[in-house]
Amino acid sequence: MRWSQAFIPTLREAPSDAEVASHIFLLRAGYIRQLGAGIYSFLPLAWRSLLKIQNIVREEMDTIGQEFHLPAIHPAEVWQASGRYQLMGGNLFRLKDRFQRDLCLGMTEEEVMAVIASKELRSYKQLPQIWYQIQTKFRDEPRPRAGLLRVREFIMKDAYSFDVDEAGLDLSYQKHDRVYRQIFDRCGLRYVSVEAHSGAMGGSQSQEFMVLGDAGEDMVALCQNCQYAANLEKASGHPAAVEDPATQAAPEEFPTPGLHTIADLAQFTGEPSGRLAKSLVYNVEGEIVLVLVRGDDEASEAKLGTAFGGREFRPAHPEEIVEHMGTPPGSVGPLHFAKPVKIMADQALRGRSNLTVGANRDGFHIRHVTPGVHFQPEWVDVRELRTGDLCANCSHPLQVSKAIEVGHIFKLGRKYSIAMGVKVLDAQGGEVIPIMGSYGIGMERILTAAIEQNHDKDGFWLPAAIAPFDTIIVPTNLGDTNIEVLSRQIYDRLRAAGRDVLLDDRDERPGVKFKDADLIGIPTRITIGKKAAQGIVEITDRATKTMREMPASDL
Ligand SMILES: [Zn+2]
Repeated sequence: MRWSQAFIPTLREAPSDAEVASHIFLLRAGYIRQLGAGIYSFLPLAWRSLLKIQNIVREEMDTIGQEFHLPAIHPAEVWQASGRYQLMGGNLFRLKDRFQRDLCLGMTEEEVMAVIASKELRSYKQLPQIWYQIQTKFRDEPRPRAGLLRVREFIMKDAYSFDVDEAGLDLSYQKHDRVYRQIFDRCGLRYVSVEAHSGAMGGSQSQEFMVLGDAGEDMVALCQNCQYAANLEKASGHPAAVEDPATQAAPEEFPTPGLHTIADLAQFTGEPSGRLAKSLVYNVEGEIVLVLVRGDDEASEAKLGTAFGGREFRPAHPEEIVEHMGTPPGSVGPLHFAKPVKIMADQALRGRSNLTVGANRDGFHIRHVTPGVHFQPEWVDVRELRTGDLCANCSHPLQVSKAIEVGHIFKLGRKYSIAMGVKVLDAQGGEVIPIMGSYGIGMERILTAAIEQNHDKDGFWLPAAIAPFDTIIVPTNLGDTNIEVLSRQIYDRLRAAGRDVLLDDRDERPGVKFKDADLIGIPTRITIGKKAAQGIVEITDRATKTMREMPASDL
């Protein structure tokens, strides 16, 4: 490829709404252009890189599964059968055809794969199966942002496994775990694998592959000591201990006029907020549930969902709180309800004593309340972990960091097999419902994560395996015959050796060429200048910007 004939529209400045490094440099380096909110065109450099990523994914996936290509447009009935047509709400792109039939654009394809399985799989002898595809996916993201990090159209490798039993699923899951690591290693990413929350997908075991970086929208908790790592939605750890009075006193109501926040109350009582229990009231599909957390803790939405057994929930309305607690919000607690209320308490309150709680009487609280003595909660893990909390395995302080999710594997269970009627016969002729796994990798996520990990003020450098070109040759002056001839020779030789080379044959000043070469993500630069006459060239490693001279014959 010669730059003079290539389409590489580099920019000096990125649009002012670009804030994260990958967004800025993808625009400046001429990789992408925006067509609409969360909708991007890939220009040749981006597409070369994305094709290399896809080829790595394909080569690795082919070692454990078979490639399909499924439709991106789905009849609504397919999603209605699993219940996700409703569940996905506004995130699912919906449309009607000319006969007013409902259709949608695929966000993921559990249902479609299960439709094929339900029609074609007959016997346990056909299992296990691992089916994958690399296909465009759609998600009607309410707030697209950060370039390719939160978009409405993206390319995903999605894979699905069908096994006859849990032991088989364990094996399929482990295969994906191994292959995903090979994929991310080959793509040159530095990543961690974390325990994840399975969210709207249902299912049990789940693991995400994360690239740490401030541009990320996920939060992960990491232990540097025992390598425990988990998505914050799932992570558990111990908060720093708070000292309780040694002897148990009797509960005692006291007036707290006008004090309705933990901060106000802590100041009024002179106790740290960790000595108070915070009351949160939820309506869980019609049932009113009181959830207590330590005063200085917050409850995690994802963990609440798990604690409520996946049932839908929302904060209780003030009138529901008055009806069940006998008091407006602000003085709610675990004693003296107006109506029976289920109580859940976070594990961080277990073993604590003499806590201060709301009295269920407006303007009053109660001190010296001990969980397990004065009320009997169901113990749950709902607190959101914070930096400095102690690791549940080894008590080392945990670090909470932002991260970009590049892959996700999980054990789905039988939800979709049942919904779509997937059944096979076992050795005895009885019917078995196969168990599924679901496994995704975002192609653009790999590219953006690599840029987030490898950039400086002048541009970025991609790992050679996923760079649009692994080498750029920069002749400083094409009017010089020695330079011109040597450049062409090296270009031909490197190409013959299987390297992916871009020759900057533009009639530009060297400074312009060097600036562009630094910008566009190519990891190695070969500069051919004055010493061409002696057959000497200069190699620059873009990551470190270190230079060394060498005879062209040694290249
Ligand atoms: Zn640890």
